[in-house]
Amino acid sequence: MKIDTNIPASPEPSTQAADFAQRIHVNQTKLASKLKPHYDFIVCGSGSSGAVVARKLAENPNVTVLLLEAGGTDDVPSVIEAGQSLLNLGSERDWGFRAQANPHLNGRSIPMSMGKVLGGGSSINWMTWARGHKNDWDYFASEAGDPAWNYESVLNTYLRIEDWHGAPDPKYRGTGGPVFVDPAPNPNPIAPAMLDGARSVGIPTFENQNGRMMEGSGGASIIDLLARDGKRMSVFRAYVFPYMDRPNLTVLTHALVTRLTFDGKRATGVEITYDGKTHRIEAGIEVILSLGAIQTPKVLMQSGLGDQVELQRLPAWDRTFRTTQVLAASGSTKKRLRHATTPARRPSSGRAILVSTPQTFRPARLKYRSPVPRC
Ligand SMILES: Cc1cc2nc3c(=O)[nH]c(=O)nc-3n(C[C@H](O)[C@H](O)[C@H](O)COP(=O)(O)OP(=O)(O)OC[C@H]3O[C@@H](n4cnc5c(N)ncnc54)[C@H](O)[C@@H]3O)c2cc1C
Repeated sequence: MKIDTNIPASPEPSTQAADFAQRIHVNQTKLASKLKPHYDFIVCGSGSSGAVVARKLAENPNVTVLLLEAGGTDDVPSVIEAGQSLLNLGSERDWGFRAQANPHLNGRSIPMSMGKVLGGGSSINWMTWARGHKNDWDYFASEAGDPAWNYESVLNTYLRIEDWHGAPDPKYRGTGGPVFVDPAPNPNPIAPAMLDGARSVGIPTFENQNGRMMEGSGGASIIDLLARDGKRMSVFRAYVFPYMDRPNLTVLTHALVTRLTFDGKRATGVEITYDGKTHRIEAGIEVILSLGAIQTPKVLMQSGLGDQVELQRLPAWDRTFRTTQVLAASGSTKKRLRHATTPARRPSSGRAILVSTPQTFRPARLKYRSPVPRC
């Protein structure tokens, strides 16, 4: 019997990556050119939070998901190459917010960079993988009145999502998840010297900052990083990118969400500026707002939602905001405002959900509950 030895070798990983990138390009170009007036879910903002939510939703092939992002592609050297990260600050990939001048800082106005690109902050940040402290999570759970936010619950989520490449530690560190995490490779000699210094003054040191240290009363360690072989591993790349060849996930860049649309108290969709035009797109099931700590409340306020006193107190920033003030005085919006400021509200279907990383989003300010995203 003649054996066929002419078995094609597996394509090189770089070829596979190039093929996949090409497939994504073709798929997303097609989906964007046939933008629909209606999707099941609309996720606004592709940053650390929105990327995870969009992916989890798109895992169900029977639903359509539209992911809207004001910024552009993350396929640029300053995002991909970890060493070039600084170049993003002040670039088109940074919203470029500045704090008001602070008299306690000699009148300086501190820059408050935020990512404006696929992946949001996770595409321009310093890549440190930093979990919250046990006490913070437990506090967050008690504030939210929802044990799903507590440390024990969140630790299990971390174990599921991590792909930890440091020394095995199954109690605290997960392997095989979507998020590649590495101990910082080749730290500068100053780093271990700092740890020696910390120990010498009684500060405990730890093998990394994301295990036991997050249960203790303080300590020091060398950081963990979301980078592999010098390349950034953003949350967007971990979650959304592998799904961008699918027909049910449309990722639209340079799409600015300007406001939510409503039918009475029910969020029905969004209004966006895209390709020089205003589009209204409906969400059959839910709209998810994951626009970051500044833009999420801003878009809510532009939609007439928020603390009424705040809406009236703030100066008119621009025409859109003045429109909001006018809307805030109208009967239906007044009701909407009262509704949105009622504490402990858990909306049912047709809702707008706010998602942000807990350290940056304070639900108490908007008095609007944020359901826990299951990762
Ligand atoms: C320079 C820098 C360094 C940092 N370093 C670290 C670090 O090392 N480790 C760490 O854990 N954290 C770090 N962070 C913080 C971390 O990146 C953020 O906490 C996190 O990304 C916030 O996630 P998010 O989903 O809430 O918002 P974002 O990641 O900011 O995502 C919001 C997304 O919504 C988009 N968007 C906003 N408004 C609109 C609109 N109207 N229409 C459409 N899209 C819109 C934005 O462009 C953005 O992509 C850093 C942040 C910065 C800026």
